[in-house]
Amino acid sequence: MSRNTEEQGFKSVKDRINDICGRMNIPEMCRARLMECERELTVHFPVKMDDGRVEVFTGFRIVHNDSRGPSKGGIRYHPDVNLDEVRALAALMTLKSAVVNIPYGGAKGAVICNPKTMSQSELERLTRRYASEIAILIGPERDIPAPDVGTNPQIMAWIMDTYSMGKGYSVPAVVTGKPLEIGGSTGRFEATGRGCMVSTLLAAKHLRIDPREATVVVQGCGNVGAVTADILAKEGCRVIAISDSKGGVYNPEGLNLEGVVDHKKETGSVIGSRNTEKVTNAELLELKCDILVVAALERALIRANAPLVRARIIVEGANGPTTPEANKILLDNGIFVVPDILANAGGVIVSYLEWVQGLQSFYWDETEVNKYLGVLMTNAFNKVLHINKDEKVDMRTAAYMVALRRLETAMMTRGIFP
Ligand code: NAD
Repeated sequence: MSRNTEEQGFKSVKDRINDICGRMNIPEMCRARLMECERELTVHFPVKMDDGRVEVFTGFRIVHNDSRGPSKGGIRYHPDVNLDEVRALAALMTLKSAVVNIPYGGAKGAVICNPKTMSQSELERLTRRYASEIAILIGPERDIPAPDVGTNPQIMAWIMDTYSMGKGYSVPAVVTGKPLEIGGSTGRFEATGRGCMVSTLLAAKHLRIDPREATVVVQGCGNVGAVTADILAKEGCRVIAISDSKGGVYNPEGLNLEGVVDHKKETGSVIGSRNTEKVTNAELLELKCDILVVAALERALIRANAPLVRARIIVEGANGPTTPEANKILLDNGIFVVPDILANAGGVIVSYLEWVQGLQSFYWDETEVNKYLGVLMTNAFNKVLHINKDEKVDMRTAAYMVALRRLETAMMTRGIFP
């Protein structure tokens, strides 16, 4: 089967929700609500480019479900992003917030564009116009965006400023992942990687793997991949390979991660870093290791390459990196998979902490933030592991079961308006 025929996006998330709701006897009214996104906004808007042309861009903001609280989810800038993918990512956010038990629903936004080829001023104009187009949906009590692939704290600052100008006063809590100077949280930049580290160490402990003897391979050298690699190395793991979109680098003795990241900053790629051997993106996923962290984009592990994976643990730093077909193969091969909605929840947890700090106008230091992050991640991991053992299901199914039960309780308790 080719990669494309496996690309199911929202359908594959819905199929899994459907299946697990059936097994758990979740009432039809809850199941049916989770099959659709509550609100979907598509916008087409003009932006003045530096050369004087006007280009029309397409963007989305999708709220999947807000039964447990205001909706939360990142904004992606990518040339290939589409409505189906944004729906799938919004649904994953609903499940993720529920599995780590923070009072949020799920949402996601995107603009079809290539931020790598745009100037800062073009990006600012695009962001401000997109923010004003989606202003009817977002707000600190309604729907709170954050960074995702292709966006960053500066882009969040422009969204916060644009929204605030519309209101006539500053509204820091309308976005998270902001720069520290305007109400961002300490620890937010590293949060997803730190959460991946916590879940990786808990998975290793469960399988009786000593982290100081573990080898780690990381796909993706961005916010999630580079930080996870760095923090795992500081915990004593040996990170032997890492990649970006152009390819990967390998050293069986362990990489000098600082050197690799500096090389990427200077040249745009990890390839050619000192004391490393080049590997292709395909070869990297097949390297023998204890822990494989997939932290790039969706559908990294598909039917064709899943049988070739030789890791004992897979940690899904990215959202949706494993197709359902690949997931089955990995489980049949005895690989312990820490699913995306659990593994990468550190980002939304610290986003929640940033939002709380913004609402109360009182900010915590990094020790405090990391402490809460550790507690929430550990509680969630242990709850999911408990279901995994009790119900004899894989970790992904267990995580969905925890999330769906909480969503059911919220929907049934609130009832239906009117
Ligand atoms: P990023 O843009 O900072 O990094 C992505 C990295 O993946 C880049 O290094 C890129 O070169 C690399 N990449 C792209 N295609 C690749 C390929 N085929 N092979 C190897 N590497 C490839 O993005 P990010 O913020 O690190 O997000 C990565 C994933 O994690 C996404 O799925 C995102 O939705 C998810 N995620 C991010 C956060 C967050 O806080 N940033 C939180 C939760 C989940």
